[in-house]
This record gives sequence, C-alpha cells and structure tokens, in this order.
Amino acid sequence: MKNIVVVGAGTMGNGIAHVFAMNGYSVSLVDISDKALERAMATISKNLDRMVNKEKITEADKAAALANITISTDLKDVVDDADLVVEAATENIDLKLKIFRQIDEVAPENAILATNTSSISITKIASVTKRPDKVIGMHFMNPVPVMKLVEVIRGYATSDEVTSIIMEMSKKLGKVPTEVNDYPGFIANRILMPMINEAIYSLYESVAGVEEIDTVMKLGMAHPMGPLQLADFIGLDVCLSILKVLQDGFGNPKYAPCPLLVNMVTAGYLGRKSGEGFYKYQKGSKDLVVSSMFKKNDTSLVG
Ligand code: NAD
Repeated sequence: MKNIVVVGAGTMGNGIAHVFAMNGYSVSLVDISDKALERAMATISKNLDRMVNKEKITEADKAAALANITISTDLKDVVDDADLVVEAATENIDLKLKIFRQIDEVAPENAILATNTSSISITKIASVTKRPDKVIGMHFMNPVPVMKLVEVIRGYATSDEVTSIIMEMSKKLGKVPTEVNDYPGFIANRILMPMINEAIYSLYESVAGVEEIDTVMKLGMAHPMGPLQLADFIGLDVCLSILKVLQDGFGNPKYAPCPLLVNMVTAGYLGRKSGEGFYKYQKGSKDLVVSSMFKKNDTSLVG
C-alpha cells in the first residue's frame, strides 16, 4: 500500500489527504473543481502550520507531507496505479455509483476501493463494481486530523482480508478503527442522528430553548458539544439526508425527521456553513449566539 487516491477535496477529502500524507503515503487528491483543490491545499497547509506551532511536527515534516500530495482533476489519470482509493465526494448516491463504476474500470485489479460515505449502503456501492469483495467503508470523522475514530464498514461481500488490511492501515494512520456491518447509518449515525432529531423535537415542542437543550447534554452527559450545536457543525442538510436514509432503510417512523429540521433546510438555514442554524455565526467570532429565530422558551413554535 503506497499510492492512495482521495476522490473529492472538500471538508473530508482534504483531511483524509492530510492524514495519509503525514504518514508517508503518496496521495493523489482529485476533484472536479480546481477551486476545491486550491482550497484543499491551502487548508492542509494551514492545518499543518497549526501542528508546527503546537510543536507536534517540525517544518521539515510539514514540507514532507505537502510534497507527498499531488492534485488532479482527472480521475482516470491517477487511479491506474492506485493501491487504495478513498472516495469522499458529495453525499449523493447516483454520483457515488458513477464514480465507483469509473474507478472500477481503471484501477488495478487488486486495488481496494473505500468510501467515506456517512450513510449510503456499502453493499449498494459495491454492487456496481466487479470487485465487491474489495469495496469497504472507511468512515473518518470531522475534523479528520483530530478525530481518532475510523468506522470500518463491511459490505455484504467485503472479504476478511480486505477488512483486516483497512483495520491495520487505519492504525498506521494513528486512528482507532472499529469494525461494523453495513446497515443504515452504520453505528455512528444510527445512534447520533436520532439523538439530534430528538433534541430538535424538544425545541419544536418548546420543552426547552436552544441553550438549555445543549447545556443539559453538555453538562449532564459530558458531551463536548450540545446536539444542536453539533447539528449546525455537521450541516442541517446532511442531518436531514441521513435521517431520511434511516427512515427509508428501516421503514420505521421513529426516524422521521422533525418538521422543524425540514423547514430550516428548505429555508437555507444549514448551520455553520450557511452562517445560521440553531446558532448564528459571525466571521472572526467564536461566541455562540442563539439564532434570533429561537427566542428563550418561545411557545409559538408549537404547531
Ligand atoms: P464537501 O461538499 O465538503 O466536498 C465534496 C467534494 O466532492 C467537493 O469538493 C466536490 O467538488 C467534490 N466532487 C463532487 N463530484 C465529484 C466527482 N465526480 N469527482 C471528484 N470530486 C467530486 O463534502 P464533505 O463534507 O467533505 O463530504 C464528503 C463525504 O464524506 C460524503 O460522503 C459525506 O457523507 C462524508 N462525511 C462527511 C462528514 C462531515 O462532517 N462533513 C463526516 C463524515 C463523512
């Protein structure tokens, strides 16, 4: 395992490329957008600077990591000598199936094809390739250079050998891999998203306000971040789409997304990335300010 191709240079792709490059792998980072690639390299450089400032790595380590990454907009061009492909493109099933068909055509027969999907079935993605035994979920957490967990998801046909290669490789990256089977939401989102949805329902039903809900979970359960703040961080559109995957996959109404979440996404209140969700985000400020849409104990939200 030497040549790693990371497909998608967004939030997750740049973090994944960073971690592989830091650990001596040769990384080709691919995106359809030149801008995304430029942004990714700037982010990786900035994040490596932060590690230099904290004296976790040296300037020479930073230079070596950056030298391990090349960027490209031509997937077919870089995949032909890949040992491992980690797909981290936009969370859209049709797009992922198209990318996996393309990769499967060109990648060497022995290459392992991993996806960082948060919720799409690994078995479904594997089914469009001629190597379902070599397709696996490698679910890194955001921010990738900081978070220790890699949820390693076995599709229905993923082989033992491929699973153990990816488990070992994750350890080499300094991560803690955890093996799970391929069912909707895997483990992380199957448990996290119903909790976030319940927090949103509690707000919707005016059981408590935004700050109160987050404070209970932060101080009461020792969570570093309350569920509403976490939902803003993840992106409310992402939370909604994962809840729909759970609802469709299990056919169980307990996963139905709260109507307040649906309204917020429809109105473009997506959390941090759009500047406002449950909280309002101002550039340059780290203060957590509740969105003016949610006044304290506002009962007008009740239907
Ligand atoms: P993002 O929107 O930040 O980045 C996606 C990138 O994919 C964009 O730069 C886009 O240009 C690129 N892309 C789209 N089509 C492409 C194609 N055909 N070929 C190459 N690149 C293409 O998304 P993200 O948050 O980095 O999420 C990526 C994946 O990681 C998704 O599957 C998501 O579910 C998963 N994930 C996200 C998080 C998170 O917190 N953001 C956490 C875990 C897993």
